[in-house]
Amino acid sequence: MTTRLYTHPIYLEHLTPPGHPERPDRLRAIARALEHESFEALDRKEPPMADPSAVLLAHPEEYLERIRKAMPEEGMVRIDADTSASSKTWEAALTAVGAATAAVDDVFTGKADNVFVAARPPGHHAEKLTAMGFCLFNNAAIAARHAQKKFDAEKVAIVDWDVHHGNGTQDIFWDDPTVLYCSTHQMPLYPGTGAKDETGAGNIVNAPLSPHTGSDNFREAFRSRVLPAIDRFGPDLIIVSAGFDAHHRDPLAEIDLYEDDFDWATGELMDRAGRFCSNRLVSLLEGGYDLQGLAMSTAVHVTRLMRG
Ligand SMILES: [Zn+2]
Repeated sequence: MTTRLYTHPIYLEHLTPPGHPERPDRLRAIARALEHESFEALDRKEPPMADPSAVLLAHPEEYLERIRKAMPEEGMVRIDADTSASSKTWEAALTAVGAATAAVDDVFTGKADNVFVAARPPGHHAEKLTAMGFCLFNNAAIAARHAQKKFDAEKVAIVDWDVHHGNGTQDIFWDDPTVLYCSTHQMPLYPGTGAKDETGAGNIVNAPLSPHTGSDNFREAFRSRVLPAIDRFGPDLIIVSAGFDAHHRDPLAEIDLYEDDFDWATGELMDRAGRFCSNRLVSLLEGGYDLQGLAMSTAVHVTRLMRG
């Protein structure tokens, strides 16, 4: 497997208030973990900053302009209760979009079999018209639309194992059967959406997990709900909203997964990518707030992407 890694120093300059869990140190921890010699074969690239028009693939123009106008020249502003922006946030957010779309380009043009994007801010809580949950632009949704527009991908599957439900991605594709959205997440938990009966146009598959769910029940939910949905759908591309906050060490939730679980889930998705879409898989970092849990989980995830 040729695995590409996109990350960029600008992601460290998106600043959040002191004590905020979504902080630059998250990416520093991942970078340190991926310095190990076992990742020597990773194809490391700096992604381009996207043109702002790329955001319009998943958000209306009025939203893009609202976010643009909210950006501070210095200091920090609050966009919502837990989402803030600093002077470099615009550039960081557009470079996160740039990485997500470049990753799609890479897997469709054969430059890579799969790509991991270590970017921030994350994206899966960003709805069409609402920034929330540390997210401004929905990177996964933009990537999916980009694949459809540029490469005529008919069907894109987004699998979201972040411990929080990706309400934004669900919102954007709610009535769009060309995109399958599957999510495992703790419930009840922020943002409150993600019940089993939220099914959109039959393209939304939610697998809510009770607090203190461990490996066995997580894998069972994945096996019984997520994987069969992918098998029925037959995607042309798999996008992973890879949050690692379901790790047992994570302070924001109460799911008890271990690195092995992320290794296993990655392998299952790679198996489908091999069967349905010439291995094309793009993985985008979402949450994960315990630095050690995040670094170890990312390391096994990327190891599996490289190994197949
Ligand atoms: Zn999360």
